[in-house]
Amino acid sequence: MPSLRFDNAFVRDLPGDPVSAPGIRQVHGALWSAVAPAPVVAPKLVAWSREMAVRLGLGEEDIQSPEFAQVFGGNATWLGMEPFAANYGGHQFGHWAGQLGDGRAISLGEIVNAAGERWELQLKGAGPTPYSRSADGRAVLRSSVREFLCSEAMHHLGVPTTRALSLVVTGEPVVRDMFYDGNAREEPGAIVCRVAPSFIRFGNFELPSSRGDVTLLRQLADFCIDRDFPELAASRVGSERLYGEWFAQVCERTARMVAEWMRVGFVHGVMNTDNMSILGLTIDYGPYGWVDNFDLDWTPNTTDAHGRRYRFGWQPKIAYWNLTRLAHALAPLFDDAEQLQAGLQRYMETFTAADRANTAGKLGLDTCRDGDAVLMQQLYGLLQAGEVDMTLFFRSLSDVDLDNPTLEPLAEAFYGAAQRTATDPDLLEWLGRYAARCREASLDPGARRARMHEANPRYVLRNYLAQQAIDRAETGDYGGIMELLELLRRPYDDQPDKAAYAVRRPDWARNRAGCSMLSCSS
Ligand code: AMP
Ligand code: MG
Repeated sequence: MPSLRFDNAFVRDLPGDPVSAPGIRQVHGALWSAVAPAPVVAPKLVAWSREMAVRLGLGEEDIQSPEFAQVFGGNATWLGMEPFAANYGGHQFGHWAGQLGDGRAISLGEIVNAAGERWELQLKGAGPTPYSRSADGRAVLRSSVREFLCSEAMHHLGVPTTRALSLVVTGEPVVRDMFYDGNAREEPGAIVCRVAPSFIRFGNFELPSSRGDVTLLRQLADFCIDRDFPELAASRVGSERLYGEWFAQVCERTARMVAEWMRVGFVHGVMNTDNMSILGLTIDYGPYGWVDNFDLDWTPNTTDAHGRRYRFGWQPKIAYWNLTRLAHALAPLFDDAEQLQAGLQRYMETFTAADRANTAGKLGLDTCRDGDAVLMQQLYGLLQAGEVDMTLFFRSLSDVDLDNPTLEPLAEAFYGAAQRTATDPDLLEWLGRYAARCREASLDPGARRARMHEANPRYVLRNYLAQQAIDRAETGDYGGIMELLELLRRPYDDQPDKAAYAVRRPDWARNRAGCSMLSCSS
């Protein structure tokens, strides 16, 4: 095995489930249960992230060794690993759901790398745990490819996220009814190893709080501050002010994360509180999607099609609502609600500031004034009405001639000819006002362009691109996954040989499963 230093703080410092026998159960008074991954028939490594491997201290030869596929397929463990599943609850679609827990995620341990960074390794799809409820603890290839690719794509876009190290196919089928319509079928199984400094979620605090177990709640809060917020831990441990500042930090990080989602056109799809990371990382890639034609009302998640609670444009307010649930859970640690209120206020301020900075970047302005925020809102309305591709539009906006603004450089961004004809005059009028504002900002053209290219990616993980890689992978050709990963390592650079990846979603993908419609079945 490679020489790695494990320091498994979560299982060492926090109370675990005294029962170690298998079996689904309610676990009280404990934050985790020991559970070993269930072996699979034929684990085979099909994709990995070289940046993440380097970060962990793994060499190319470690990754390529047969032993690696065994460990990351769940058939073996390295010395120092102490596998466990975490116990948490959550609000799902606005309702308290009680105990959920890691039903198919098994953490292997926490690596401390040469730079002193802590990285927890977690297998997703490695078999049942005490928290699997009625499900099998496994994951299908399609959802594993999606999680693997999007984790790394988001990282390279600069969006806070959990990472992915590896994608292993298991050689075993998994049965899924993709649209819950009685059409269950066998699909290939796979396991992603995801990586993060911490996988603690809002739901980890909600569960002990809901059970009135304030001792356990406090233990977890103290642990989380100590391990995951070391800069805060240096101040007064246990004091209410420390908890207050910690909660405010969580609010800040969450605000920055969601502002980034809005900047790049990412829709999480299932923003339940068990899918909200305490570190403000994008976590649990399920039926997420990328906005093609700009639409604040769009959700990729068919399971949410009715109320569209997790639609693109609602993400900022849903994140806020989730923070109010966390505040409620943490309330027993405070004498009154004042500091929790202040934290929530911090969310508002941070989101507004980040959103404004993104507006300035996306539009190539020196700064975002009140009028510019309005200008952006008006543009959003026009993009939605005109069925305009978000990524192509913003990327091409830097090509508009400020002295003679026309729609010509933006032509590739339009989906519907009829919608375009209807909105053209308004868009032209908007462009005129926009160009005037840019001239006033008087940024040097090169600087303006560079600024815009930093805020507006050329390549994102369009849903249909991921689906094409999945279609290939399901026939045993995994090459598309590493090809996409390679492309998405430099999303802001024009890659001349990769122009085919920066085009509008093709018509065939408009209503195809996996491309625009995704369910929670994974
Ligand atoms: P999600 O909607 O993916 O965040 O999952 C919600 C809950 O269901 C979490 O507790 C998951 O661990 C659990 N879960 C989802 N899929 C499975 C599965 N195939 N086997 C066991 N548990 C699962
Ligand atoms: Mg989840």
